[in-house]
Amino acid sequence: KSPVTVALVGNPNAGSTSLFNALTGAQSAVANYQRVTTSLNVREITHGGVSLRIVDVPGIFSTSSQSPEEKVGCDYIHDEEPDIIVNVLDAGHLDRSLFLTTQLIETGLPRITVLNMMDEVRRAGIRIDTTLLASALGSPVVETCALKKEGVDALLDAVAAMASTTPATPMRLHYDSHLEAAIERVQQHLSTLHPQELSPARSRWLAIKMLEGDDEILRHESNHADLIGEIKGEQTALAHEHDEDTASLLASARFAFSNGLLREARQQEGDPTAGFK
Ligand code: GDP
Ligand code: MG
Repeated sequence: KSPVTVALVGNPNAGSTSLFNALTGAQSAVANYQRVTTSLNVREITHGGVSLRIVDVPGIFSTSSQSPEEKVGCDYIHDEEPDIIVNVLDAGHLDRSLFLTTQLIETGLPRITVLNMMDEVRRAGIRIDTTLLASALGSPVVETCALKKEGVDALLDAVAAMASTTPATPMRLHYDSHLEAAIERVQQHLSTLHPQELSPARSRWLAIKMLEGDDEILRHESNHADLIGEIKGEQTALAHEHDEDTASLLASARFAFSNGLLREARQQEGDPTAGFK
């Protein structure tokens, strides 16, 4: 596939636009992106013989946000299915940044994790175990300082390498058995409604988003009354089993995953209780 679409996705102020500029330089004019209401920055570059279409997606905190500022970014993730997601994290605030990462994992799309703001991290005396992070997140991890254009070549190498290989089976977050069973049932239902279009990863993602109550995705399926009815039924059953609505259940599981990971992967200099060498 050429060019390969590479979407920069992160929280607002993680440094996506700085990184976009550092990655693309001035090799082509900024193009208007047609399929969303606001124009996105898009530039095509070539690296290692691979044509890459780099898209600067406006910052989001969640893939199911209701806020108008995040609409363009959320719609992009829902509608466009880029070939590769470059998830830009403010490495100085990994606790906040990883929540979006857990949701991007759920899309099942090939991902690269960028730890941006590494200058700040080093200055603060924080060390991050990138090997552990890479294996836990199921993606390569690249450290950058977009401001000083550091790590840009390493990132382009990682993108070009990923673009030239068949995507591996995507990693998934595992939820408790009730939730997993509900996801499975909704997935089956979706697959019978859309047998041609849906990969297993995509149907899992849609099932999770519908159970979570994502309005945008539910609206897409609003003509399938039986599916909508099933979602409501699953949500009611889950609320009975857990004393918590399905959206909070999913959010808690995502926080537990990212907090656990942070405890292992981040070390403050001089902290004797820190986990890794
Ligand atoms: P966006 O909202 O994700 O597009 O973030 P921007 O690229 O607009 O960057 C937000 C702010 O962070 C700007 O003031 C940038 O200059 C700054 N910034 C971006 N990358 C880095 C970095 O690696 N280190 C430092 N210290 N600042 C950065
Ligand atoms: Mg920006």
